[in-house]
Amino acid sequence: MIRNQWSDEVAKEWCDVAPQTPADQVLALRVYTSRLIGMDPDLVMHGGGNTSVKVRRKNLFGDMEDVLHVKGSGWDLEVIEAAGLPGVRLEPLKRLRTLDALSDEDMVNVQRNNLLDSAAPNPSVETLLHAYLPHRFVDHTHATAFLVLANLPNAAERCREIFGDRLGIVPYIMPGFNLAKVAADIYDTNPDVEGLLLLQHGHFAFGDTARQSYERIIEHTNLAAAALDLDGPTDIAPRDYDALPDAVVDLRGALAQCGGDGDTVPMPILDVRANHSILEFLERRDIAQLLSRGVASPDHVIRIKGRPLHLQRSTWKQGAAAIAAAIASFQQDYKTYYSREVARSSQPKTMLSSLPSLVWMEGVGIIGVGASAKAASVAADLGVQNARVRSVGEDQGGFHPVNEADLFDLEYWSLEQAKLGKSKPPVMVGKVVIITGAAGAIGRAIAGTFASAGADIVLVDQPGTGLKDVATSISKTALAVEMDITQDGASDRAIMAAISRFGGLDILVSNAGAAQTGTMLELDDRQLADSYDLNFFAPYRFARAAAHCFRRQGRGGQLLFNISKQSVNPGHNFGAYGLPKASTLFLMRQLALELGADHIRVNGVNADRIRSGIVTDEFIESRSSARGIEAADYMAGNLLKQEVEARHVAEAFLMLAQMERTTSHVVTVDGGNVEASLR
Ligand SMILES: [Zn+2]
Repeated sequence: MIRNQWSDEVAKEWCDVAPQTPADQVLALRVYTSRLIGMDPDLVMHGGGNTSVKVRRKNLFGDMEDVLHVKGSGWDLEVIEAAGLPGVRLEPLKRLRTLDALSDEDMVNVQRNNLLDSAAPNPSVETLLHAYLPHRFVDHTHATAFLVLANLPNAAERCREIFGDRLGIVPYIMPGFNLAKVAADIYDTNPDVEGLLLLQHGHFAFGDTARQSYERIIEHTNLAAAALDLDGPTDIAPRDYDALPDAVVDLRGALAQCGGDGDTVPMPILDVRANHSILEFLERRDIAQLLSRGVASPDHVIRIKGRPLHLQRSTWKQGAAAIAAAIASFQQDYKTYYSREVARSSQPKTMLSSLPSLVWMEGVGIIGVGASAKAASVAADLGVQNARVRSVGEDQGGFHPVNEADLFDLEYWSLEQAKLGKSKPPVMVGKVVIITGAAGAIGRAIAGTFASAGADIVLVDQPGTGLKDVATSISKTALAVEMDITQDGASDRAIMAAISRFGGLDILVSNAGAAQTGTMLELDDRQLADSYDLNFFAPYRFARAAAHCFRRQGRGGQLLFNISKQSVNPGHNFGAYGLPKASTLFLMRQLALELGADHIRVNGVNADRIRSGIVTDEFIESRSSARGIEAADYMAGNLLKQEVEARHVAEAFLMLAQMERTTSHVVTVDGGNVEASLR
C-alpha cells in the first residue's frame, strides 16, 4: 500500500519559498509532488519516471507563452528542484505532432532549441508525450505494481477489469516521437481517462492540479497492487553481512579477469542484496525460465542488461575457475546476441561491455555489478525490483516483457551510444580502500584524497571518534566501521565489511597508531606490549587478512603502511613508539618479498611532525618552548622550512597507490630531515 503523503502545510511551504509569480507557484507544487513520487522506490527508481507541468510565462518581449516544465535528464525526482524541470516552449513541440516522422536526434535538437534557459539539462526523452496530453500536470512512473500488470500476457484485459475505462491502454513503442503520437491519439479517442497504461513499460496519470495528478498515481498504483496480490513495499535496503561466502570475492576477481588482461583493468564494485524474499526467489523452480525473459521496463536494460548471470550453488561452490567459466559463457551469449541484433541496424554501433551487470547467486543473493558503488547499487536496486516483478507477474499469469529486438533498440539507442567515451573515469575508480585510524587528521585526509580520486572507502576507527560523520563528509557511499583494531578478529570483521558493502578489497592503508611516551628505563612491559599491539600487531593482522582477500581475488592488491620517521631515527621519549614502527618497516619489506609473486605491492610512508593525535597542540607547545622557538618555527623545522600537513601525507599514499611497478618502498614526507633519511 503506497501512502498518500500530500500535506497542505508542506505544499504551502514549497510555495512560500518559491518566486511569487503564478507560473513559479505552480512549478513549486510540481517540485513538491515530484519529490513525493520520487521518495517511494515502488513508484520510481533511478530515472524510471518523470513529471511535468504546463504554465504561461511572459517572454522578453512581454508576450505570454505556453511553457512545459519537464524533468531534465540527470535529475532524480526524489531530490528534484525547480532547476531540474527545465522550461521548454510548448507550441513548437505541439507542432511536431503534424510530422510523419522525426529522428531522435532531431527531437532532442528541437527540445534543446526551445529551452527557456539554454544552459538547462536535456528535457526527458518522454517530453513530447507530456506535451501532447492537455492536462496541466502529468506524472509518469515505472511503479512495481504497474510493471507487473504491464508485462502480463493479458495486460489489457486485466487493466480493464481493475480500472474499467479510467485508463487508456497504449501498446509498446520505444520512448520518443512515435510513442508520444500514438499515446496522444489514444488519449484523444477517450479524453475522459485519468491516465494511461503503457504496455510493457509503465504508467501515466494526469490532472488539473498537482494534488489531483499525484493522488491518481497513488490510487491507480494501489488498485493495481491490490488486484495483483502485491503486499507491502519492495525491500531494496542494503545490509551489512557478518558472513558472506568466499565465492563473492571469487566472483569479483573473476569478473575483472574476464574483463581483460593486465593489472590496470578496473575492478568492479559488487552490491549484495540478500533478504528473505530475494533468497526465496533464487530458489524458484522456474528460475531458469525467468532468467532469459528480459527486464521489467525496457530502460532497465541500460543499467542491468537484458539478463543476469545466474550462478547456481553447484557452480560457485566449485570456486573461482568455475565462476570464470560461467562468466565467459555469459559473455559469449552476449556477443552472439549483439551480432544477431546489430545486423538489423542501419547505423554503426559500438558494442558495450559483455560482462554482466547483475548476478543471481543462488543461496547468496542478488548482486549489482558496476564501475562504482553508485552504479552497483543502482543495478542492485533494479535487480531486486525486477525479481519481484518477475515472481509476482509469473504467479499472476506470466511475465512477458518486450522481446529481444525491442530491448536491443533501447540498449543500443543512438542517444545512449552518443554518451559513450565522453567522460574519463577518475584514477581510483573501482578500487575499494580500507583506511584505519580514519577519524584522525591524517586518516581523514587519506580517505578524502582517495575518495576524490574515485575510490570507494571503508573507514575504520574506534567508537566515539565521530567516524560516521567523517564518512558522510567524505562521500555518499563511504562506509564507517567502528571497532578497536587491537581486538581479536577485528581485521577479519573489517575485511568482511568491505566485502559485504563493495564485494572485495584492493588497498589497505594501515594508518592507525598512537604514541606511548617515556624513556626505555621508565617504561614497563605492559606499556611496550600495548604499543606493540596497536602499532605493530594490529597492522600486521590487518595486512594478513587483506592479503588473503587479495590472493582470493587473484588481481593483485596493495598494502600501504603509515610508518614514521621514528622507525629509522629515534626521538627522545619515543622508544615505545619507534620499536613497533621499526618492526612495521621490516614487516613492510618482508611482506613485499613474500607477496610480490601475487602482484601484491607493499609500500610505506615515513612522515614526521604532522599535526595529529600524536603531534597535538600541547606537544607542539612543549617541544617549541623547550627549544625556545615559536610553535610555527618548530612545525617548519625541516630543510624546506615549511610545515608538513596531513594532506601531503595523503598525497604520498595516493602516489604510491598509482606506482604500478613499485614495491618495498618508503616515501619520506617530512619536509627534509637528513638524520631521518633512509640509508
Ligand atoms: Zn518511462
